[in-house]
Amino acid sequence: MTQPDRRALIRSIAEEAKLWRRELHQNPQTMYEETFAGSFIARRLSEWGIEHEGGIAQTGVVATIEGSSSDGPVVAFRADMDALDMPEETGAAWQSRTPGKMHGCGHDGHMATVLALGKYLQQTKAFRGKVRLIFQPAEEGGRGAVRMLEEGLLTRFPFDEIYGFHNWPYGPLGEFSLCSGYMMAATDFFEVHLTGRGGHAALPSVCDDVILAGSHLVSALQALVSRETDPLDAAVLSVTNFQAGSGACNVLPEKAMLSGTVRTFAPAVRERTERRMREMIAHTAAMFNLQHSFVYNRITDAVFNHEDGVKTCSASVTRLFGAESLKPQRPVTGGEDFGSFLEQRPGAFIFAGQGAGEKDSPTRQGLHTPRYDFNDDLIPLAVEYFAEIAETRLAA
Ligand SMILES: [Zn+2]
Ligand SMILES: [Zn+2]
Repeated sequence: MTQPDRRALIRSIAEEAKLWRRELHQNPQTMYEETFAGSFIARRLSEWGIEHEGGIAQTGVVATIEGSSSDGPVVAFRADMDALDMPEETGAAWQSRTPGKMHGCGHDGHMATVLALGKYLQQTKAFRGKVRLIFQPAEEGGRGAVRMLEEGLLTRFPFDEIYGFHNWPYGPLGEFSLCSGYMMAATDFFEVHLTGRGGHAALPSVCDDVILAGSHLVSALQALVSRETDPLDAAVLSVTNFQAGSGACNVLPEKAMLSGTVRTFAPAVRERTERRMREMIAHTAAMFNLQHSFVYNRITDAVFNHEDGVKTCSASVTRLFGAESLKPQRPVTGGEDFGSFLEQRPGAFIFAGQGAGEKDSPTRQGLHTPRYDFNDDLIPLAVEYFAEIAETRLAA
Protein backbone atom coordinates (compact mmCIF):
# COMPACT_ATOMS: atom_id res chain seq x y z
CA MET A 1 0.00 0.00 0.00
CA THR A 2 1.35 3.43 -0.88
CA GLN A 3 1.76 6.07 1.80
CA PRO A 4 -1.21 8.21 0.55
CA ASP A 5 -3.47 5.13 0.37
CA ARG A 6 -2.47 4.12 3.85
CA ARG A 7 -3.12 7.62 5.17
CA ALA A 8 -6.55 7.70 3.48
CA LEU A 9 -7.51 4.32 4.97
CA ILE A 10 -6.42 5.40 8.45
CA ARG A 11 -8.35 8.66 8.09
CA SER A 12 -11.53 6.82 7.23
CA ILE A 13 -11.13 4.43 10.18
CA ALA A 14 -10.38 7.44 12.42
CA GLU A 15 -13.72 9.00 11.39
CA GLU A 16 -15.48 5.98 12.91
CA ALA A 17 -13.11 6.00 15.88
CA LYS A 18 -14.23 9.55 16.68
CA LEU A 19 -17.72 8.16 17.34
CA TRP A 20 -16.36 5.33 19.51
CA ARG A 21 -14.37 7.90 21.45
CA ARG A 22 -17.45 9.97 22.14
CA GLU A 23 -19.45 6.94 23.22
CA LEU A 24 -16.63 5.92 25.57
CA HIS A 25 -16.50 9.51 26.84
CA GLN A 26 -20.20 9.44 27.69
CA ASN A 27 -19.76 6.32 29.79
CA PRO A 28 -16.78 6.92 32.10
CA GLN A 29 -15.86 4.44 34.83
CA THR A 30 -12.97 4.39 37.26
CA MET A 31 -10.44 1.96 38.77
CA TYR A 32 -11.26 -1.66 37.82
CA GLU A 33 -14.89 -0.82 37.12
CA GLU A 34 -14.36 -0.10 33.40
CA THR A 35 -16.93 -2.69 32.30
CA PHE A 36 -18.50 -0.45 29.68
CA ALA A 37 -15.15 0.12 27.95
CA GLY A 38 -14.14 -3.53 28.37
CA SER A 39 -17.22 -4.87 26.63
CA PHE A 40 -17.25 -2.07 24.05
CA ILE A 41 -13.69 -3.02 23.05
CA ALA A 42 -14.41 -6.76 23.04
CA ARG A 43 -17.48 -6.23 20.86
CA ARG A 44 -15.53 -4.29 18.24
CA LEU A 45 -12.66 -6.79 18.23
CA SER A 46 -15.09 -9.70 17.75
CA GLU A 47 -16.78 -7.85 14.89
CA TRP A 48 -13.46 -7.62 13.07
CA GLY A 49 -12.41 -11.20 13.89
CA ILE A 50 -9.55 -10.17 16.17
CA GLU A 51 -8.62 -12.76 18.79
CA HIS A 52 -8.82 -11.33 22.32
CA GLU A 53 -9.23 -12.12 25.99
CA GLY A 54 -11.01 -9.98 28.59
CA GLY A 55 -11.14 -9.98 32.37
CA ILE A 56 -7.40 -9.41 32.77
CA ALA A 57 -6.86 -7.30 35.89
CA GLN A 58 -10.65 -7.27 36.21
CA THR A 59 -11.68 -5.27 33.14
CA GLY A 60 -8.54 -5.27 30.96
CA VAL A 61 -8.50 -6.73 27.45
CA VAL A 62 -5.57 -8.09 25.42
CA ALA A 63 -5.93 -8.62 21.67
CA THR A 64 -3.55 -10.37 19.29
CA ILE A 65 -3.25 -9.71 15.56
CA GLU A 66 -1.11 -12.01 13.47
CA GLY A 67 0.70 -10.57 10.50
CA SER A 68 1.15 -12.07 7.03
CA SER A 69 3.27 -14.75 8.71
CA SER A 70 2.99 -15.43 12.42
CA ASP A 71 6.65 -16.08 13.12
CA GLY A 72 8.62 -13.00 14.02
CA PRO A 73 8.81 -10.65 16.96
CA VAL A 74 5.85 -9.34 18.92
CA VAL A 75 5.19 -5.64 19.41
CA ALA A 76 2.64 -4.35 21.94
CA PHE A 77 0.67 -1.10 22.04
CA ARG A 78 -1.13 -0.03 25.17
CA ALA A 79 -4.16 2.14 25.93
CA ASP A 80 -5.42 2.96 29.41
CA MET A 81 -9.15 2.71 30.07
CA ASP A 82 -10.13 4.55 33.22
CA ALA A 83 -11.80 7.88 33.90
CA LEU A 84 -11.57 10.16 36.95
CA ASP A 85 -13.76 10.97 39.92
CA MET A 86 -14.49 14.57 38.96
CA PRO A 87 -17.40 16.57 37.56
CA GLU A 88 -17.42 17.43 33.84
CA GLU A 89 -18.18 20.94 32.58
CA THR A 90 -17.45 20.68 28.85
CA GLY A 91 -21.08 21.02 27.82
CA ALA A 92 -20.22 18.75 24.87
CA ALA A 93 -22.98 16.69 23.26
CA TRP A 94 -21.01 13.63 24.41
CA GLN A 95 -20.58 14.87 28.00
CA SER A 96 -20.42 12.25 30.76
CA ARG A 97 -23.77 10.66 31.61
CA THR A 98 -22.52 9.75 35.06
CA PRO A 99 -22.40 12.69 37.49
CA GLY A 100 -19.04 12.93 39.25
CA LYS A 101 -17.16 10.76 36.73
CA MET A 102 -15.32 12.12 33.73
CA HIS A 103 -12.79 11.11 31.10
CA GLY A 104 -10.65 14.06 32.16
CA CYS A 105 -7.34 12.54 31.08
CA GLY A 106 -8.31 11.47 27.55
CA HIS A 107 -8.07 7.71 28.08
CA ASP A 108 -11.25 7.55 25.98
CA GLY A 109 -9.13 8.85 23.09
CA HIS A 110 -6.31 6.41 23.85
CA MET A 111 -8.74 3.47 23.66
CA ALA A 112 -10.31 4.70 20.42
CA THR A 113 -6.84 5.13 18.89
CA VAL A 114 -5.61 1.65 19.77
CA LEU A 115 -8.92 0.13 18.62
CA ALA A 116 -8.61 1.96 15.30
CA LEU A 117 -5.03 0.70 15.03
CA GLY A 118 -6.36 -2.84 15.50
CA LYS A 119 -8.94 -2.41 12.76
CA TYR A 120 -6.30 -1.06 10.37
CA LEU A 121 -3.74 -3.79 11.11
CA GLN A 122 -6.31 -6.56 10.81
CA GLN A 123 -7.35 -5.22 7.39
CA THR A 124 -3.87 -4.68 6.02
CA LYS A 125 -1.57 -7.16 7.78
CA ALA A 126 1.49 -5.54 6.23
CA PHE A 127 3.76 -7.04 8.87
CA ARG A 128 5.11 -10.35 10.08
CA GLY A 129 5.01 -11.65 13.65
CA LYS A 130 2.34 -10.39 16.00
CA VAL A 131 0.90 -7.21 17.37
CA ARG A 132 -0.71 -7.16 20.80
CA LEU A 133 -3.16 -4.48 21.85
CA ILE A 134 -3.22 -4.01 25.60
CA PHE A 135 -6.23 -2.22 27.11
CA GLN A 136 -5.28 -1.52 30.71
CA PRO A 137 -7.62 -0.55 33.56
CA ALA A 138 -6.89 1.61 36.60
CA GLU A 139 -4.05 3.81 35.38
CA GLU A 140 -5.06 6.70 37.66
CA GLY A 141 -3.49 5.51 40.89
CA GLY A 142 -4.83 1.95 40.76
CA ARG A 143 -1.65 0.17 39.64
CA GLY A 144 -3.49 -1.45 36.72
CA ALA A 145 -0.26 -2.10 34.82
CA VAL A 146 1.30 -3.90 37.78
CA ARG A 147 -1.84 -5.96 38.25
CA MET A 148 -1.84 -7.03 34.59
CA LEU A 149 1.80 -8.08 34.98
CA GLU A 150 0.96 -9.96 38.20
CA GLU A 151 -1.79 -11.80 36.35
CA GLY A 152 0.79 -13.17 33.92
CA LEU A 153 0.62 -10.69 31.05
CA LEU A 154 4.19 -11.50 29.94
CA THR A 155 3.74 -15.27 29.96
CA ARG A 156 0.16 -15.43 28.68
CA PHE A 157 0.65 -12.78 25.98
CA PRO A 158 4.41 -12.42 25.51
CA PHE A 159 5.80 -9.41 23.66
CA ASP A 160 9.28 -8.11 22.86
CA GLU A 161 8.66 -4.36 22.79
CA ILE A 162 5.96 -2.01 24.00
CA TYR A 163 4.84 1.49 23.01
CA GLY A 164 2.31 3.91 24.44
CA PHE A 165 1.27 7.53 24.15
CA HIS A 166 -0.49 10.21 26.12
CA ASN A 167 -2.40 13.10 24.58
CA TRP A 168 -0.69 16.33 25.53
CA PRO A 169 -2.85 19.47 25.70
CA TYR A 170 0.30 21.49 26.45
CA GLY A 171 1.61 21.13 22.89
CA PRO A 172 0.00 21.84 19.49
CA LEU A 173 -1.77 19.15 17.48
CA GLY A 174 0.74 17.32 15.31
CA GLU A 175 3.69 17.78 17.67
CA PHE A 176 5.20 14.67 19.27
CA SER A 177 7.71 14.85 22.11
CA LEU A 178 9.79 12.39 24.09
CA CYS A 179 13.24 11.86 25.60
CA SER A 180 15.54 8.97 26.40
CA GLY A 181 15.81 7.83 30.00
CA TYR A 182 13.46 9.14 32.66
CA MET A 183 10.53 11.01 31.15
CA MET A 184 7.96 10.78 33.96
CA ALA A 185 8.38 10.46 37.71
CA ALA A 186 7.59 7.67 40.14
CA THR A 187 4.47 8.62 42.08
CA ASP A 188 4.05 7.76 45.76
CA PHE A 189 1.41 8.77 48.31
CA PHE A 190 1.92 9.04 52.07
CA GLU A 191 -0.18 9.54 55.19
CA VAL A 192 0.99 10.52 58.67
CA HIS A 193 -1.07 10.40 61.88
CA LEU A 194 0.05 12.20 65.05
CA THR A 195 -1.66 11.51 68.38
CA GLY A 196 -1.22 13.05 71.82
CA ARG A 197 -3.06 14.47 74.82
CA GLY A 198 -5.41 17.21 73.74
CA GLY A 199 -6.93 19.65 76.15
CA HIS A 200 -7.61 23.26 77.08
CA ALA A 201 -5.73 25.60 74.77
CA ALA A 202 -4.97 27.89 77.70
CA LEU A 203 -3.08 25.11 79.48
CA PRO A 204 -0.56 23.81 76.89
CA SER A 205 1.85 22.57 79.55
CA VAL A 206 -0.53 19.78 80.52
CA CYS A 207 -1.33 18.90 76.88
CA ASP A 208 0.53 17.81 73.76
CA ASP A 209 0.35 19.86 70.58
CA VAL A 210 -0.19 17.87 67.41
CA ILE A 211 -0.62 21.05 65.37
CA LEU A 212 2.76 22.45 66.38
CA ALA A 213 4.39 19.08 65.70
CA GLY A 214 2.63 18.77 62.34
CA SER A 215 3.74 22.27 61.38
CA HIS A 216 7.35 21.43 62.18
CA LEU A 217 6.96 18.33 60.06
CA VAL A 218 5.62 20.23 57.03
CA SER A 219 8.74 22.45 57.11
CA ALA A 220 11.22 19.74 58.03
CA LEU A 221 10.15 17.38 55.24
CA GLN A 222 11.05 20.04 52.66
CA ALA A 223 14.68 19.71 53.75
CA LEU A 224 14.67 16.22 52.24
CA VAL A 225 14.26 17.87 48.85
CA SER A 226 16.33 21.02 49.35
CA ARG A 227 19.17 19.66 51.53
CA GLU A 228 19.35 15.89 51.05
CA THR A 229 18.60 15.38 47.37
CA ASP A 230 21.46 16.00 44.97
CA PRO A 231 20.48 19.25 43.19
CA LEU A 232 21.01 17.51 39.86
CA ASP A 233 18.53 14.78 40.83
CA ALA A 234 14.90 15.75 41.14
CA ALA A 235 12.39 15.15 43.90
CA VAL A 236 9.06 16.71 44.83
CA LEU A 237 7.47 16.35 48.23
CA SER A 238 4.08 18.02 48.62
CA VAL A 239 1.98 17.92 51.78
CA THR A 240 -1.52 18.29 50.37
CA ASN A 241 -3.69 17.72 53.45
CA PHE A 242 -3.28 18.80 57.06
CA GLN A 243 -6.34 18.01 59.14
CA ALA A 244 -6.62 18.82 62.84
CA GLY A 245 -8.88 20.66 65.21
CA SER A 246 -12.60 20.78 65.89
CA GLY A 247 -13.19 24.38 64.88
CA ALA A 248 -13.02 25.57 68.47
CA CYS A 249 -10.44 28.28 69.19
CA ASN A 250 -9.79 27.03 72.69
CA VAL A 251 -9.29 23.28 72.21
CA LEU A 252 -5.98 21.58 71.45
CA PRO A 253 -6.91 18.50 69.40
CA GLU A 254 -5.69 14.97 70.13
CA LYS A 255 -5.05 14.03 66.52
CA ALA A 256 -3.61 15.43 63.33
CA MET A 257 -3.36 13.87 59.89
CA LEU A 258 -1.01 14.93 57.12
CA SER A 259 -0.88 13.38 53.68
CA GLY A 260 0.62 14.11 50.31
CA THR A 261 2.71 12.90 47.43
CA VAL A 262 6.37 12.27 46.58
CA ARG A 263 7.72 12.33 43.01
CA THR A 264 11.19 11.02 42.12
CA PHE A 265 13.03 9.60 39.12
CA ALA A 266 16.02 7.52 40.25
CA PRO A 267 15.13 4.50 42.43
CA ALA A 268 17.89 5.40 44.93
CA VAL A 269 16.31 8.83 45.49
CA ARG A 270 12.92 7.21 45.98
CA GLU A 271 14.33 4.71 48.54
CA ARG A 272 16.18 7.39 50.44
CA THR A 273 13.26 9.82 50.52
CA GLU A 274 10.95 7.17 51.96
CA ARG A 275 13.52 6.03 54.56
CA ARG A 276 14.36 9.58 55.63
CA MET A 277 10.68 10.55 55.87
CA ARG A 278 10.13 7.59 58.19
CA GLU A 279 13.06 8.71 60.38
CA MET A 280 12.10 12.36 60.38
CA ILE A 281 8.47 11.65 61.24
CA ALA A 282 9.45 9.28 64.08
CA HIS A 283 11.93 11.79 65.52
CA THR A 284 9.57 14.74 65.20
CA ALA A 285 6.80 12.78 66.93
CA ALA A 286 9.25 11.81 69.71
CA MET A 287 10.40 15.42 70.05
CA PHE A 288 6.82 16.48 70.82
CA ASN A 289 5.91 13.41 72.96
CA LEU A 290 3.46 12.08 70.38
CA GLN A 291 2.52 8.70 69.00
CA HIS A 292 2.59 8.43 65.26
CA SER A 293 1.91 6.19 62.29
CA PHE A 294 3.25 6.49 58.76
CA VAL A 295 2.06 4.78 55.60
CA TYR A 296 3.98 5.14 52.34
CA ASN A 297 2.39 3.72 49.18
CA ARG A 298 4.19 3.34 45.88
CA ILE A 299 1.63 4.07 43.19
CA THR A 300 3.48 4.15 39.84
CA ASP A 301 7.07 3.55 38.80
CA ALA A 302 9.00 6.14 36.81
CA VAL A 303 8.66 6.02 33.02
CA PHE A 304 12.12 5.20 31.67
CA ASN A 305 12.33 5.32 27.87
CA HIS A 306 14.80 2.89 26.31
CA GLU A 307 17.20 4.43 23.85
CA ASP A 308 16.35 2.05 20.98
CA GLY A 309 12.65 2.61 21.62
CA VAL A 310 13.15 6.36 21.38
CA LYS A 311 15.03 5.92 18.10
CA THR A 312 12.14 3.86 16.71
CA CYS A 313 9.56 6.42 17.83
CA SER A 314 11.54 9.43 16.61
CA ALA A 315 12.16 7.86 13.21
CA SER A 316 8.44 7.09 12.84
CA VAL A 317 7.37 10.65 13.63
CA THR A 318 10.03 12.13 11.35
CA ARG A 319 9.17 9.86 8.43
CA LEU A 320 5.44 10.50 8.70
CA PHE A 321 5.19 14.12 9.69
CA GLY A 322 8.63 15.69 9.18
CA ALA A 323 11.47 16.46 11.58
CA GLU A 324 9.81 19.69 12.71
CA SER A 325 7.00 17.62 14.33
CA LEU A 326 9.39 16.00 16.78
CA LYS A 327 10.38 17.96 19.91
CA PRO A 328 12.66 16.97 22.77
CA GLN A 329 10.66 16.54 25.98
CA ARG A 330 11.94 17.67 29.36
CA PRO A 331 11.13 15.04 32.00
CA VAL A 332 7.91 15.83 33.87
CA THR A 333 7.06 15.05 37.50
CA GLY A 334 3.63 13.72 36.59
CA GLY A 335 3.16 9.95 36.95
CA GLU A 336 2.03 7.25 34.51
CA ASP A 337 1.98 3.55 35.18
CA PHE A 338 3.24 2.68 31.70
CA GLY A 339 6.61 2.77 33.48
CA SER A 340 5.86 -0.68 34.94
CA PHE A 341 5.73 -2.17 31.42
CA LEU A 342 8.97 -0.44 30.45
CA GLU A 343 10.65 -2.02 33.49
CA GLN A 344 9.93 -5.41 31.92
CA ARG A 345 10.37 -4.83 28.19
CA PRO A 346 12.09 -2.21 26.01
CA GLY A 347 10.07 0.47 24.28
CA ALA A 348 9.09 4.09 24.77
CA PHE A 349 6.28 6.42 25.76
CA ILE A 350 5.53 9.61 23.84
CA PHE A 351 3.44 12.75 24.35
CA ALA A 352 1.25 13.67 21.38
CA GLY A 353 0.24 17.34 21.24
CA GLN A 354 -3.49 17.95 20.95
CA GLY A 355 -4.01 21.66 21.61
CA ALA A 356 -5.31 23.71 18.70
CA GLY A 357 -7.38 26.75 17.90
CA GLU A 358 -9.01 29.00 20.45
CA LYS A 359 -7.29 29.43 23.78
CA ASP A 360 -10.47 28.39 25.62
CA SER A 361 -10.95 25.32 23.44
CA PRO A 362 -11.51 22.17 25.54
CA THR A 363 -8.60 20.44 23.79
CA ARG A 364 -6.24 23.06 25.20
CA GLN A 365 -7.43 22.77 28.81
CA GLY A 366 -5.03 20.94 31.10
CA LEU A 367 -5.47 17.27 31.89
CA HIS A 368 -7.73 16.59 34.90
CA THR A 369 -9.65 19.88 34.55
CA PRO A 370 -13.47 19.93 34.22
CA ARG A 371 -13.48 21.60 30.76
CA TYR A 372 -10.81 19.36 29.21
CA ASP A 373 -11.70 17.15 26.25
CA PHE A 374 -9.72 14.76 24.07
CA ASN A 375 -9.06 16.12 20.57
CA ASP A 376 -10.50 13.69 18.02
CA ASP A 377 -8.20 15.09 15.32
CA LEU A 378 -5.33 13.40 17.15
CA ILE A 379 -6.72 9.91 16.44
CA PRO A 380 -5.59 9.61 12.79
CA LEU A 381 -2.12 10.96 13.65
CA ALA A 382 -1.63 8.62 16.58
CA VAL A 383 -2.92 5.60 14.62
CA GLU A 384 -0.53 6.36 11.78
CA TYR A 385 2.31 6.73 14.25
CA PHE A 386 1.62 3.35 15.91
CA ALA A 387 1.04 1.66 12.53
CA GLU A 388 4.40 2.95 11.34
CA ILE A 389 6.13 1.48 14.39
CA ALA A 390 4.39 -1.88 13.86
CA GLU A 391 5.23 -2.00 10.17
CA THR A 392 8.88 -1.02 10.61
CA ARG A 393 9.65 -3.14 13.69
CA LEU A 394 7.81 -6.08 12.09
CA ALA A 395 8.76 -5.41 8.45
CA ALA A 396 7.36 -8.24 6.32
ZN1 LIG B 1 -4.53 11.31 34.36
ZN1 LIG C 1 -3.78 9.86 31.64
